[in-house]
Amino acid sequence: MGSAIDNLNTVRDEIAAAETDAGRDAGAVTLVAVSKTFGVERIQPVVDAGQRVFGENRVQEAAGKWPELKQVTPDLSLHLIGPLQTNKVKQAVGLFDVIQTVDRPKLAKSLANEMEKTGLWPDCFIQVNTGEEPQKAGVLPADIDGFVAECRDVLQLPVAGLMCIPPVDEDPSPHFALLAKFAQRNGLAGLSMGMSADFQTAVMLGATHVRVGSAIFGARDKPL
Ligand SMILES: *Cc1c(COP(=O)(O)O)cnc(C)c1O
Repeated sequence: MGSAIDNLNTVRDEIAAAETDAGRDAGAVTLVAVSKTFGVERIQPVVDAGQRVFGENRVQEAAGKWPELKQVTPDLSLHLIGPLQTNKVKQAVGLFDVIQTVDRPKLAKSLANEMEKTGLWPDCFIQVNTGEEPQKAGVLPADIDGFVAECRDVLQLPVAGLMCIPPVDEDPSPHFALLAKFAQRNGLAGLSMGMSADFQTAVMLGATHVRVGSAIFGARDKPL
C-alpha cells in the first residue's frame, strides 16, 4: 500500500470511474473515509489532502480525537457507522453530523428526544440487516417500512436513507440491490453501502455514500 494520500486519490479515481460507468453524475457518491483505530496524526494529512467526510464506529474513540480535528477544520462531517447504545445518545448527537446506525425503536425515540432538546439534527440512516444474520445489528427487511414510518412520521427524525453491511462471505450485489429497492419504496434518497472490497459494485448499484477504511488508511492493527 502507498501513503494514505496516494490511496485516497486512487479511491477517488475509482469512485469517479464507477460513476461514469454507471451513467451517474460526477460527484454523486460521497466518500466516507473510515478512520477508526487511527489517531489524529494519521487522519490530519488526509484532511489536509481535502477529504472532509469521515466515519467512526465507536462514540468513545471518536470523542477522543474529533473535537480537536474539527476545531482546526470546522467543515468536517463526521458519520457514526457503528452500533449506538442509548446511554451514548447525548454524546453522539453532540459529536456526529450523521448517524448511520439507527436500528431499533428505543434508540430512535432516544435520538428524537435528544435532538428536540438540543436543536441539533444529525441526518439519520436506518441500518438494515439485509442478510438477516442473527448476530448483526439492523432492522429486518420485513420491518423496514414500519420502522421508517415510525422514525420519519411519528418521531420526526431527519431520515436521509438506508445503510447495510452485507454478510462477509457472500456476493454483496444482491444485498446492495435489495437496499436500493427498500430505499426507493420508502422515498429515501440516501444509500450507504460498499466498503474497501466492494465500493465500485455499490456505486454501480446506486450507493450515495461508500464507507472506505483500509483501502485508504491501510490495514488496522486492532480487531474491530
Ligand atoms: C470498518 C467499517 C467500514 C470500512 O471497512 P473497510 O473494509 O476497512 O473499508 C465500513 N463500514 C463499517 C460499518 C465499518 O465498521
